[in-house]
Amino acid sequence: MINFQYQCSQCGKEFDITPELMLCPKCSQIQKPDEPLRGVLEVVIDGHFHHQPKMSDLLPVAAEYFPRIPVGNTPLWKPENLSQELVFPNLFIKDDTHNLTGSLKDRASYLVAAFAKRENINAIALASTGNAASSMAGVGAAAGLDITIFLPETAPKAKLVQSLQYGARVIPVAGNYDKAFDLSLEYSRKHHILSRNTAYNPLTIEGKKTVSLEIYHQLEKVPDFVFVPTGDGVILGGVYKGFRDLLKFGIIDRIPTIIAVQAEGSNALARAFESGKFTPIDAQTVADSISVGNPRNGYYALKQLKQYNGKCVTVSDEAILEAQKELSSKAGLFAEPAAAASYAGFLKMKDEMNKNATIVLLVTGNGLKDIDSAMKTIDFPSKSITSLEELD
Ligand SMILES: *Cc1c(COP(=O)(O)O)cnc(C)c1O
Repeated sequence: MINFQYQCSQCGKEFDITPELMLCPKCSQIQKPDEPLRGVLEVVIDGHFHHQPKMSDLLPVAAEYFPRIPVGNTPLWKPENLSQELVFPNLFIKDDTHNLTGSLKDRASYLVAAFAKRENINAIALASTGNAASSMAGVGAAAGLDITIFLPETAPKAKLVQSLQYGARVIPVAGNYDKAFDLSLEYSRKHHILSRNTAYNPLTIEGKKTVSLEIYHQLEKVPDFVFVPTGDGVILGGVYKGFRDLLKFGIIDRIPTIIAVQAEGSNALARAFESGKFTPIDAQTVADSISVGNPRNGYYALKQLKQYNGKCVTVSDEAILEAQKELSSKAGLFAEPAAAASYAGFLKMKDEMNKNATIVLLVTGNGLKDIDSAMKTIDFPSKSITSLEELD
């Protein structure tokens, strides 16, 4: 028999998985403002499989509850030109721009939506920098759920348009993501609505682990390095969780080196990695999806990085935009700035890496989600013509 439980990532206590439980009741009591969440729960799988578990065997909600939509199973491919030019023959892209709403966030929304269906819940609320919003709106639409979103008013237009187009109720917040996060929690508690806030709802971490399960199956081995663009640290936690589950059931024998890539102006986790403690900053970066002053999954993410010898690297906005341009023009992959950060992180670290290493760049969101940023690095054609003679 296989049993799924929540386990506190801090004290280790186990709990049944219920819609009411979000954080460890004990560890969350010492929560201070402006620090990462205390008592983040993770899903643990108790028991033994008598066969090699399928992906669906490793998820805490049965396959029948998931909406029939294309989430996950994204391509893993080799950017040939970049790979040759940089002389890294085993460089791969895990291309999560291919998800239903164009970002990796769909993996989390998908599991949360399935859980809601199983529990007969019909409404979900969340705060988002943009992608979690458009993701939950889209996946929620397919699953027939009512979605309410708290979105910083500075979120890129396309993400707002996506959310509205999918039919979600969008509440703009005059303030940053951290403010939206707090307001949405207040709203969820007041109206007894399931929260999909990242890290707070443990299934957001669990849902994102499928990316690692896929990477392993697609490569047919454990990569040496995975570059993960990091804001709240939930993707990072999910990436670790996937590999840890594979390790736990004897399918793999090691965890890859995970590299958290942050923007210089939003580097809370990288600083805590050095100093051991989190100090909030006013995050500022062109990469809106990783612009986070107080990384909600900071304690959990930091613990994994330390335990499995992960690394942190920070990249400038300029390097992010250059990486975005290069991925587009040399690999044909138009990624949003946060998603291109993994490539920028790789470029910064490549000289310390073995040329034959198997490297996976996690590309987490589509470039069309934020064209204002992309417009910073392109020259628009200046005039229109009526005949070819006018071309110089
Ligand atoms: C949310 C997001 C990230 C960062 O994920 P965290 O869990 O906040 O660290 C990176 N890239 C994209 C495109 C995202 O939407």
